[in-house]
Amino acid sequence: MTARHPIAIVGGGPAGALAGALLAAGGRDVLLFDEKLAWEKPCGGGLTHKALQQYPFLADAGSDSNPVEHCELISPSGQRVRFHMQYPVAIFSRLALNGLLLERARRAGVDVRVEVRQERVTRIARTAGDWQVITPQREYRASYLILAAGARNPFRSQFLSPISPSDLMVTAGYFIPGRSSLMQIQFLKGITGYIWVFPRADHVSAGIAGKMGETSASELRRRLERWLEEQWLEESGFHLDGARFYSHILPSFRAQTFETLEVRGEGWAMIGDSAGLVDPITGEGLYYALRSAELCADALLAGRPDDYRVLLEEELLPELRLAARVSERFYRGQVFGDSVLERMVSLTAQSASFRELMSDLFAGIQGYRDLRSRLYQILPSVMSEGLAGTLRLAWTNSSGASRFATDPLAE
Ligand SMILES: Cc1cc2nc3c(=O)[nH]c(=O)nc-3n(C[C@H](O)[C@H](O)[C@H](O)COP(=O)(O)OP(=O)(O)OC[C@H]3O[C@@H](n4cnc5c(N)ncnc54)[C@H](O)[C@@H]3O)c2cc1C
Repeated sequence: MTARHPIAIVGGGPAGALAGALLAAGGRDVLLFDEKLAWEKPCGGGLTHKALQQYPFLADAGSDSNPVEHCELISPSGQRVRFHMQYPVAIFSRLALNGLLLERARRAGVDVRVEVRQERVTRIARTAGDWQVITPQREYRASYLILAAGARNPFRSQFLSPISPSDLMVTAGYFIPGRSSLMQIQFLKGITGYIWVFPRADHVSAGIAGKMGETSASELRRRLERWLEEQWLEESGFHLDGARFYSHILPSFRAQTFETLEVRGEGWAMIGDSAGLVDPITGEGLYYALRSAELCADALLAGRPDDYRVLLEEELLPELRLAARVSERFYRGQVFGDSVLERMVSLTAQSASFRELMSDLFAGIQGYRDLRSRLYQILPSVMSEGLAGTLRLAWTNSSGASRFATDPLAE
């Protein structure tokens, strides 16, 4: 890496903006390009407690985010359960989140040059050990190149093979004006994905995601619209007047793709969605975008760019790989004669220990790797609480009134 040119970052979403801020704070000149700068990128905007702990300035964002404490899960057959999340999910509009991160990049660094340019990069070329970055406005030189251009990264095929359709999800959704304090997730029959309603400060992001090739974008949109019309709008008091439609792609890598994942080469690295760093079960990408940016910046500031891949392997890839391995079983598998999704919702309804586990999963503090041992640990209480719930149901008639004057299992 030559020191005379700045590090160029293509893409000023969460990954690119944080990488820019950290590199500038570490004393590097930075040239960051985003064709739109801060914009309402199609997204739920949900940030977990784990992400807020890692990046406390996001926890301090105040009115830019909506801290949501209650979650409703709805199974494919329509069972519903609401539970309290011990650690709220902070739901951001992406306009606000990207704006906040870009502003930090602009202000980072003393005695270094940080340029945040609203320009679309149209061409990237290697020139005698440096990079030539071309936009309609100008031509720039860079010593190192960070590709943070998101899932639609137009330069990927210049460096790596394109992302296979089997490694992508399709999403469609609406930004709907109004306020709510309930996060909702509806699992669906025959779709590897789900519908979400994520309430932000002054609107909700309601969307649907499904595996590319399994369900078309138009079918997903139809399913979402039907669900909103039939299940949500009337009950929530929202309406679609003034709602804005969105659609985007989301990386959802298979386990074999993570096995051979490449994220860097001579003089370049990819971070965030560009590199495919998204949880293939939940679609959570913000934490991975931020953390991969930080690991990449750490490796560059230490003068060991190769270490970026090593750091990813140590910290993020084992979880993502495991998620990719169990994703199919999560969405399509059976357990004790029922679908995993139905079981998960009924156990959440019946067992306080299971609700605690769900709360930790939504907080991002319960990983997949030690999930099995946690499940074994709580199994006895889940079983007894589940049994209590089942018995309570048996003692309850269809109108919901107890058949007994005193429910013997009432707490
Ligand atoms: C519908 C949907 C819902 C989601 N919900 C959640 C959620 O609730 N929680 C969560 O954690 N994750 C969620 N994700 C994932 C999350 O949105 C991404 O993981 C995250 O945005 C990745 O950040 P990034 O910086 O890598 O890429 P992006 O945010 O996509 O940023 C890339 C940037 O590059 C710029 N760019 C691209 N090409 C060029 C070019 N040629 N020149 C200049 N600039 C360029 C773009 O303008 C863009 O600003 C969701 C994704 C989708 C699609």
